[in-house]
Amino acid sequence: MATFQFRTVPHIHAGRGAAGRLADIAAPLMAGVERVVLVTDKGVRQFGLIDSALAGLEAAGRSVLVIDDVVADPPEDMILAATERARAFGGQLVVGFGGGSSMDTAKLVALLLGCDQPLSAMYGVNQVKGLRLPLVLVPTTAGTGSEVTPISVVTVGETSKMGVNDPALYGDMAVLDAELTLGLPRHVTAATGIDAMVHGIEAYTSAIEKNPVSDALALAGLKKLHGAIERACRDGSDIEAREDMLLGALLTGQAFANAPVGAVHALAYPLGGVFHVPHGLSNSLMLPPVLRYNAASAEPLYTQLAAHLDLTSPSTEALVTEMERIADGVGIETRLTQVGVSHNDLPRLAEDAMKVERLLKNNPRAMTLEAAQACYEAVL
Ligand SMILES: [Zn+2]
Repeated sequence: MATFQFRTVPHIHAGRGAAGRLADIAAPLMAGVERVVLVTDKGVRQFGLIDSALAGLEAAGRSVLVIDDVVADPPEDMILAATERARAFGGQLVVGFGGGSSMDTAKLVALLLGCDQPLSAMYGVNQVKGLRLPLVLVPTTAGTGSEVTPISVVTVGETSKMGVNDPALYGDMAVLDAELTLGLPRHVTAATGIDAMVHGIEAYTSAIEKNPVSDALALAGLKKLHGAIERACRDGSDIEAREDMLLGALLTGQAFANAPVGAVHALAYPLGGVFHVPHGLSNSLMLPPVLRYNAASAEPLYTQLAAHLDLTSPSTEALVTEMERIADGVGIETRLTQVGVSHNDLPRLAEDAMKVERLLKNNPRAMTLEAAQACYEAVL
């Protein structure tokens, strides 16, 4: 057997209504904790999603500081300001409650409260030098897998994306409550669900650190997501489809936490940074051209994935066509012009994508500037 390692969060709790039982579920982490910091965004708060968790924590005698300042593509300033508020409150445990941005922010707040190292010195892989506060992650979308990844993505300056990737960012517990995802709008369900599928596809073809455990998780997660995404988009109140989506996103999240994503994500990042295209949608847009480009190196693996999803005549093209069919069917954007990109923007996008070396090195086929530009061109 090849040498490999695999890590994940030590405790996963899944169940309908679990958020309301958070104080009980997380009891082992709560011993001696009086002040809890709950990190979320205004939409999640206004939608009432944190209410039952908050009531449960307060009923269990904890005082809770809710920080609802999180915005998409979390800026460094926002993360540092949230950390200062949490520090002034004397926070002893952090709950990240929301989509990827809220969880990514919570992970860093827990870390920055637990050690003296400045955030600017944490960027990169395995740069963290300290311990974090206890950390519980509760996703309200089925997509990023952030509840089981050791990664937080931060926007530094205007558009530049930096990542902190370190085992210290694995939470102590991930809590899956599909009831939290029942109200997700159709386009968010679609884009975040396709992103979760991209995590599985890119983990399975990761040039480095692909391993038997991440493969098994990628396959299981893809099957769940593929079987549920159209049902969840058709009927948002289909709790079983929602559960499959949440579980699928966790499984592919565990996979790519260990076998990292590649050029789909690398080419998607500049769309988020420059054009503020949401993470899921930017990955959905870039999936078809990147997979077609990668086919020269990854055809056998894509064929295995297509066969695993029971597609007829399994091949890269069958897999890509199926993903295009899903995106079309659920009505999300499939062309860059639909998100404000014009032909003149392509050279800059390609240049920015080539800077995401930490992801490009995982791609099954070496990406070049010309190929990156051709990928953008193909979906203009
Ligand atoms: Zn992603």
